[in-house]
Amino acid sequence: MRDLLFDQTPTWALLESASRLTAQRHGYQRVVTPLLEATELFAHAVGQGTDIVDKEMYTFTDRSDRSLTLRPEATASVMRAYFDGGLHQAPQPVRVWYEGPMFRYDRPQAGRYRQFFQFGAEAVGDASPGLDVEMIEMAGDWLTAAGVEGVTLQLNSVGDEVCRPAYREALRDYFRPYLSEMCEEDRRRFEINPLRMLDCKKPSCTPFHASAPRIDEHLCDPCHDHHERVKAGLAALGIAHVDNPRLVRGLDYYTRTAFEFWHEDLEGAQNALGGGGRYDGLAEVLGFDPTPGVGFAMGSDRVVLALQRAGREVSADVVEVYLIPAAEGADSVVLQAARDLRGEGRSAVVDHSGRSLKARMRRAQKLGSPCVLIVGDDEMAAGTLTLRDMASGEQVSVPSSQLIEQVDSILGVPAVTGE
Ligand code: AMP
Repeated sequence: MRDLLFDQTPTWALLESASRLTAQRHGYQRVVTPLLEATELFAHAVGQGTDIVDKEMYTFTDRSDRSLTLRPEATASVMRAYFDGGLHQAPQPVRVWYEGPMFRYDRPQAGRYRQFFQFGAEAVGDASPGLDVEMIEMAGDWLTAAGVEGVTLQLNSVGDEVCRPAYREALRDYFRPYLSEMCEEDRRRFEINPLRMLDCKKPSCTPFHASAPRIDEHLCDPCHDHHERVKAGLAALGIAHVDNPRLVRGLDYYTRTAFEFWHEDLEGAQNALGGGGRYDGLAEVLGFDPTPGVGFAMGSDRVVLALQRAGREVSADVVEVYLIPAAEGADSVVLQAARDLRGEGRSAVVDHSGRSLKARMRRAQKLGSPCVLIVGDDEMAAGTLTLRDMASGEQVSVPSSQLIEQVDSILGVPAVTGE
């Protein structure tokens, strides 16, 4: 878990505004669920036999001996909130978005943290393929709004409870002769969840992936039709994708569409900026009425990383006016001037240090403030304020009634006309 300091937070602020803008344009409403949930919510939703539940959850007992977990993802929480909050009785689908920290006890490395942040959206209560397209479009729009380039959309269908069992068996039949050469984890997945074997990145296992049976050759007619309609929808919007039959979601409640956005510059397992898909079986797994849903979760940390590598970080805003009280009694004059500036929407910082004028001018320069206001003995005697244009070095003394006008002319803010 790491601190985000102000060399980074302006870039994060850019992502936050991209989230709000993207969600608003697509008609999604924000929800905020607790960072903590009952452990069984995630144990059911994320699933035993997955890395997240087996190794990565921050789980503890509270003072009432309840087992709680810091959320490793938010889809299960949103589904719970949808039923707890009676949203299943509202017109369907319900379109919601969220952002915030998620927690996974994973081995930290670049692009992988124990507290990381996601922007996500879910459309619950409707099984139309058009919603899958909407989700993909929205996640892509968020990346575009954030200024990320070099991304490919990977697309697959993982079928459903009708066609997947036969595919699972086909995978077992294929992998069985090679099992002794594959990693221990894959041997375990072979029993619980052979689809996830296709996800393994180990050099001992990847050579076997190329000739493995493909899910697209095992889809039942309704799944095939759904997938074709998603692809046609993307094509109609001009959204390019790569068919990736090895893109899988390990759990049974995931159905049909699965997608990920990969970044070309981030290495290996960390190249996924985010992903999503359909989870028509999730509500039932959680003990609710069967309810279809589709969603995505995009990782902000990796997007910030990609922006940094592309030299597209946002730097902090400079303070527009740096104010220096440099005479006995000047403090109150300067404080009032700063207040007037802020009241008019300009940013202002007062240097209270009492150091030499020269030292304080150097500080203003270092901060990059375009305008410095000085009140020394002369200004106190004359009842004026001195403003220095840091770019040209020119100084003028004005009465406080002309403060804003003069500051704006230094900042290059166009004057407001009388009309
Ligand atoms: P997932 O829910 O595992 O599909 O993750 C969705 C996205 O969240 C990933 O593509 C990453 O961008 C991000 N993400 C997941 N786990 C981490 C992590 N430990 N650190 C940073 N980002 C993560």
